[in-house]
Amino acid sequence: MMRPIQATVSQHALAHNLNVVKQLAPHSKVMAVVKANAYGHGLFNAAQGLNTADGFAVLGLNEAIDLREAGFTQTILLLEGVFDARELNIAASYHVDVVVHSQPQIAMVQQASLIAPIHIHLKMNTGMNRLGFEPNAYQQAYDVLKDSANVAGITLMTHFATADETLGVDKPLDTFHSATRHMANPKSVANSASILRYPITHLDWVRPGIMLYGATPVSGTPIEYFNLKPVMHLTSELIAVQTLSAGESVGYGQRFTAAQTTRIGIVACGYADGYPRHAPNGTPIAVNGKLTQTLGRVSMDMLFCDITHIAEAQIGSAVELWGSQVPVDAVAEAAGTVGYELLCAVTPRVPMKVVD
Ligand SMILES: *Cc1c(COP(=O)(O)O)cnc(C)c1O
Repeated sequence: MMRPIQATVSQHALAHNLNVVKQLAPHSKVMAVVKANAYGHGLFNAAQGLNTADGFAVLGLNEAIDLREAGFTQTILLLEGVFDARELNIAASYHVDVVVHSQPQIAMVQQASLIAPIHIHLKMNTGMNRLGFEPNAYQQAYDVLKDSANVAGITLMTHFATADETLGVDKPLDTFHSATRHMANPKSVANSASILRYPITHLDWVRPGIMLYGATPVSGTPIEYFNLKPVMHLTSELIAVQTLSAGESVGYGQRFTAAQTTRIGIVACGYADGYPRHAPNGTPIAVNGKLTQTLGRVSMDMLFCDITHIAEAQIGSAVELWGSQVPVDAVAEAAGTVGYELLCAVTPRVPMKVVD
């Protein structure tokens, strides 16, 4: 018998969520964002379920090469571009597109002698203030690249800081359009929140990430509202049961003390599996298909839940940490974070299984 924790990745749910994107943005090409090991789902597990996407976006050149060598023929984009001239040559030889967001990257492109010209996604800083050229420096960066024999084409791109918030995208979108008004190139601006909330941002490409995995990009709005399905189910089992009398505590630091007789299920899942250690008492969890809550401090390999009202719960009872009954977003909200972070944090020791 193996330790019972497992993450399952639903191909059906991935394909469903991708279709939601396609229905919302029928005239845009879809660049499925599979960075961070596909938000913790496994690069190939995700890429298979998303194989009708028009492109994949990753961070590392290794991931891009892995996708190419596995036979994916779509556009593949490096979201931070390359870090040195060697990487630029390799990217070109694998037909991998690169973001160009800085002056040193422009110099690399100008000075390279590439095996084949490379396609560039030229990034503008429209207020996120993370990566990209200022709107008033954008034309010059564009002109330099346009004239380089190393450049096969240029897609114009930006990334929004507040697509998930009331501030929205009006101002940065305006900035982007006015700084690119003389350029006929393809445009790419929308992340998940922007795809779901602002059809006006569905330009030549859209770049969904989190929505493909069935977690919300908009805190407080559950995925059902967007017709998305959860992709990852993180499940385990009870490996012990304890009965506390009033006044007894459970776990490190005695963070939970029973007010009356309380049955506690010990779950084979802890922070070394990626479950958030800072999840408070009361974080939702399901045992044997019934909703209940965690109690006590999460330990490295185990955590505790209340099974006082789940009389049939015993050693071996099924536990859902997150999935269909317990949205990952609900766990995230309780733990003061976002679904993105929880999904990415699932550690390599958790066996991952792909299901239809
Ligand atoms: C991560 C990322 C995305 C996807 O964002 P989601 O909020 O997960 O949809 C899109 N574009 C860029 C540039 C990114 O880095």
